[in-house]
Parts: sequence; structure tokens; C-alpha cells
Amino acid sequence: MAATTMDQLVSLCKRRGFIFQSADIYGGLQGVYDYGPLGVELKNNLKAAWWRAMVYERDDVEGLDASILTHQKVLHYSGHEDTFTDPLQDCKKCKNRFRADHIKDGKCPNCGSTDLTEPRMFNLMFKTAIGPVEDSGNFAYLRPETAQAIFTQFKNVVDSTSRKAPFGIAQIGKSFRNEITPRNFIFRVREFEQMELEFFVKPGTDMEWLETWKENRLKWWEEQGLDLSKMHILTVPKEDLAHYSKATYDLEYQFPHGLEELEGIADRQDFDLGNHTRYQDELALSAKVNKNSDSSAKLALFDDTDKKWYVPFVVEPSAGVDRGVLAVLTEAYTEETLPSGETRTVLKLKKHLAPVKVAIIPLKRNNPDIMKLAHEIKANLLKTGIGRVMLEDSGNIGKAYRRHDEIGTPLCVTVDFESIEKSPTSVTIRNRDTMAQERINVSDLPAYLKDFFLK
Ligand code: ATP
Repeated sequence: MAATTMDQLVSLCKRRGFIFQSADIYGGLQGVYDYGPLGVELKNNLKAAWWRAMVYERDDVEGLDASILTHQKVLHYSGHEDTFTDPLQDCKKCKNRFRADHIKDGKCPNCGSTDLTEPRMFNLMFKTAIGPVEDSGNFAYLRPETAQAIFTQFKNVVDSTSRKAPFGIAQIGKSFRNEITPRNFIFRVREFEQMELEFFVKPGTDMEWLETWKENRLKWWEEQGLDLSKMHILTVPKEDLAHYSKATYDLEYQFPHGLEELEGIADRQDFDLGNHTRYQDELALSAKVNKNSDSSAKLALFDDTDKKWYVPFVVEPSAGVDRGVLAVLTEAYTEETLPSGETRTVLKLKKHLAPVKVAIIPLKRNNPDIMKLAHEIKANLLKTGIGRVMLEDSGNIGKAYRRHDEIGTPLCVTVDFESIEKSPTSVTIRNRDTMAQERINVSDLPAYLKDFFLK
């Protein structure tokens, strides 16, 4: 099958209600997207799968949901105020602006002109005013990564859970970066979500954990439906490492626009906890407090064997939710030619990611007996906990099948005349991938579906 194109995805996402341009009616806000009725379900399912794998299935990870507005000092001591920058160049001819590292052979990617400004550094963080008076002291940042609050809340989490290394803190949430050139649909945007784990380990064991997390994360992406032959592990060259990192792997995926980063797995060492601790030291010194008198106030762990405080190292798998959504859509999008010559578009999403698990389709929507049975079945199936069950009342079964193939609904249940006329009451189930249909008694449906979705 031909590779999925970005145009196919953008068109499907708009047509079926997955993803819309933000402020579409005002011409759109660049680099910002909204998730529609099906997009929100897909995104929530991907996040739930991550949370389940990172928190519920492990015994060494706790969760956190911290604020987006971030104290200036946090991002000062984390190094972001000084170093979270991209080099920017303007084309003097067409007036477009680019990230310098996206410019090839000194030529403007838009018009080809070589008349470009010298690169200058541009900080990617968004600022916002706090309180009614807008002055230079009253501002906060919109966080550029979710990680920092995990570091600043480290002591509170450790004190309230008595964790010892190795252990992790997981968080999913919005991050903001004022990208110079947002592009490629939801791949590079200014407002996005991250799924980040900060996994704290004893110094010296960090490189081993980096390998473990790389393997672990690859396996998880495979479970979300990604074909590993379309993934590549990049060992980030030393000169390209982020300011906090000693070693980083980028898990790259073959997106429609090219092979690019889906998730980064970095050894952040003790860079962040160390820097925030140093600030605590400065505070203690300026208050003329003996800085050694209260080691527990630092962002450190106590080693029971050595009887000493130490700052743990941290290994961070950091994945973008939006890039994850784009990758699973790319992988799932399929166009098949049917024996009739017609083309069928199917979204072959993994069952747990499908926005709608089961569509219940009444054959005739103006038949009260059929409708009554369809409503009863829906209410019963919701109790199974399989996820969203939708009553589809478009009144046209062919159209309903086409729509549910396109949005990736794994099963359609059709309530027809036989359902209300014959005993025991039965329905047909149609499988999205095989299109095979089978008849099943309504009383057997909950067990059948639990088996299909939850096993
Ligand atoms: P890139 O090199 O593509 O700009 P990055 O190396 O700056 O990405 P990280 O800081 O490692 O990205 O962030 C972790 C993850 O967050 C990335 O792997 C990606 O999935 C996601 N992410 C980062 N920036 C964006 C963005 N502008 N839009 C969407 N997702 C993003």
C-alpha cells in the first residue's frame, strides 16, 4: 500500500471531526489546533494507555498534575531562561522567518534567496502577566516542558510517599513553545501535550536505566500499533544535546513528512535537582542559616547504607501526545480496493485507541421496536466498561459502515427485523478489519465484547 500522505490525514481529521485548526472561523491561529469529538477520544485513549503502562502497571512510579503557570525562578535555575533558544534567520527578500538549523546551503527554504540575516537567538518560552498590574516583575512563564514541576515538587512527593530510588514521577499535560516555524499539521505546534516520566536513580546506574527505558518505550509504541520498521533510534550527537543532558536517544518515526522525533529519552543527570538545590542553598545563606543544618530541605534522597544525602540522577522518557496521535493515525490509515472496485478507507487503529468501540446501528430508525431494542443494548453495553458505545441513527446502514470504517470503530452491531421478530433476540456484528458478519444472541453480547476488547 502507498504511504499515507499528510493531505489524506488532514482531510480525514477535518471531515470526520478529529482535529480542527484553532479559531478556524477567524482564519486560524498558527501552530494551534483543537481536537474535535473523535480527536478528544483518541487522544484520551492514548494518554490512558501511557498512564496505565507508566503508573498502574508499575510499582515504582507516582503521578502528578502540576500547574502550567510557572514561577520565573524555576525556569531561571533550570537553565531555560538562558539556553532554551533557537537560532532565527530572516529572509530579506520574501520576509519569511526560519530556524537557522532548518536552512540548507544558506538558501531561503521559501524563495531560494541567499540574502538572509545573521542568525540571532530567540527564546521559545511564552510569558504572561500575573495580576492586574502589568510590569516587568509580575510575570510567569507558560511551562515549556512538564518536567520542571516534577523537580520542584520532588521533596513533597518523596515526603508524602517515602519513595527511595529507583522511582519515578509521571505527568501528562500541556506545554508551550513559541516555535519559529510551526508546521506539518500537529507535528510542530505552539501548544501541545507531553507525557513525561522523570525516573530517579542512583548516580552510576543512569546509563543502564537509559537503555532500559529506550527498550521499554519502543515496546510501548509497538503496542500502540506502530511498525518498528518505521522507527529509528537516533543517538543524539554530543553537540546537539540539550543543555541538561549527558546522553539522549531520540525515537524517530517515519511521519508523512519524514523521519522525525516522536519521543526523546534523556539522561538529565542531577542537572535540575542540583540547580534547584543550589538555589535553596543561596536562600539559606542569604538568610544566614547554616546550609548544612537542614539537608532534608534539599532536593535529595537519603542513602540508608552510606548514611548520606545524595542528589539522584534522572532518566527522562518524554513523548509528545500530539506527535503520538499523528503517528498512530499515519500507521492506521488504510485505503483498500474492494472486489467491487470501490475504495474503502479504514482506520485500523488498535482497539484500545479507537474513539468509538461499538456502533449500534438500527436498521430502521422510525421503527419504535428496533429503536427501543437498540437503546436497551447500548445501555447494557455501557455497563461492560469497554469504552464509548454509540447509537448511530443516520438511517442508512451502508453510510454508517463507511463512516465507522473511516473513524476506526472495531465493531458495528446491527439491530434488524429479525432482532425484533425472532426469539431469542439476536443482532449481527460486523468486524471492521475483516468485514465479516456474524449473528449473535443479545444475551451473549456483553461477554463477547468484554472478551474482544478487554482481553
Ligand atoms: P524538536 O527537536 O522536534 O524541536 P525537542 O527535541 O525540542 O523536539 P523535547 O524537548 O525533547 O523536544 O520534547 C519532548 C517531546 O515533546 C518531543 O519528542 C515531542 O514529541 C514533543 N514536542 C516538543 N516540541 C513540540 C512541538 N513544538 N509540537 C509538538 N510536540 C512537541
